[in-house]
Amino acid sequence: MSKVKNIQLNREMEYPYEESRPRRQIAYIFDTNKCIACQTCTVACKTTWTSGKGQEHTFFNNVETKPYGFYPHGWDVKLLGMLGPGEWDGEGTYNGKTIFEAAPPGERALGFLPEEEDYASPNLGEDISAGSVPQGAFFQNIHNIWMFYMARICNHCTYPGCLAACPRKAIYKRPEDGIVLVDQSRCRGYRECVKACPYKKIFYNMVTRVSEKCIGCFPLIEQGEQPQCVKTCIGKIRLQGFLSKPGEEKEDNPLDYLIRIRKIALPLYPQFGTEPNVYYIPPVHVPRLFLKQMFGPGVEEAIAAYRSAPRDKKLLAALLMFGNTPKIIQRYAVEKEEAVGFDGMLQEAVRVPFTEPFFQRDFFDKKHQVYRHNIS
Ligand code: SF4
Ligand code: SF4
Repeated sequence: MSKVKNIQLNREMEYPYEESRPRRQIAYIFDTNKCIACQTCTVACKTTWTSGKGQEHTFFNNVETKPYGFYPHGWDVKLLGMLGPGEWDGEGTYNGKTIFEAAPPGERALGFLPEEEDYASPNLGEDISAGSVPQGAFFQNIHNIWMFYMARICNHCTYPGCLAACPRKAIYKRPEDGIVLVDQSRCRGYRECVKACPYKKIFYNMVTRVSEKCIGCFPLIEQGEQPQCVKTCIGKIRLQGFLSKPGEEKEDNPLDYLIRIRKIALPLYPQFGTEPNVYYIPPVHVPRLFLKQMFGPGVEEAIAAYRSAPRDKKLLAALLMFGNTPKIIQRYAVEKEEAVGFDGMLQEAVRVPFTEPFFQRDFFDKKHQVYRHNIS
């Protein structure tokens, strides 16, 4: 095992390979407050990449309802139980074991192989809230019954569990953008990767007998376009871009700004230790202890910053980059009352006003001699 720096844990940790960060790291932000669980992302991904034989249970993208939704069943609660307790100190340092540090003798990571039936119900727990409303209760104000939708894809981790566990060295991380891929000609289907991925985002194909995972839509990325699941998102909850190397963050890169500078988007289960690169804006209505277990320390500050966005043009401008262009936004700026995004060639790709223009038509249209309803 080598000693590598995990910036999400704020400490060094053990990993089977040396630290080797890509030139820039593919990263995503998902705003959980905006997801409506329409599953458009799921279908867009499925029809693009996994409609073949042996891929019936494969969802590179899925959307589950927390707290009771899982795909595969129990993926996170089971691993959390195996990992045991861990604490975050006041400095934001994790004092507990990662999946690599808790690996059983002779193995590279702590994990488990889901049973076949765990993949049988992708929408298990959908729309089920935490707790129930007592008989006779009626709505008075904000109530304490909650749930939220959580979209999930491969995290293209900085320290992938799948890559660490593969005995064939069939999994690799691209130096140019950090996308994690399986070389299927090397894979022999041992499923060590499925066992070791803490997010269960690598799938075994029973027909081809090799492992398959999200490829980050790299043919699109290479054309300067965001992945299918991002482009098609109805709720405009997603933004994909690139994170700079730690210490080289740029204020005008929306990913650097939202994740590393303002810290309003947080990693999912950072305590697993893989340094995942899908970051979530936490749901504002969910009990903080639950969120802290899921997204680590900094939840309270992230929510406070998110709520301040209407009064903070720079932050609001970064949030307006979500879902408004298929292009990958590499730089952004505030220009008067508009947010402007630039692509990799630094050409303007999108311009969004802070306030939606408002038009009101006359109730009575003299020209056509008609009355109009819904006039604004
Ligand atoms: S398309 Fe967007 S809003 Fe719809 S389920 Fe997927 S992430 Fe949520
Ligand atoms: S989420 Fe899982 S499959 Fe994706 S890179 Fe991380 S460990 Fe590998």
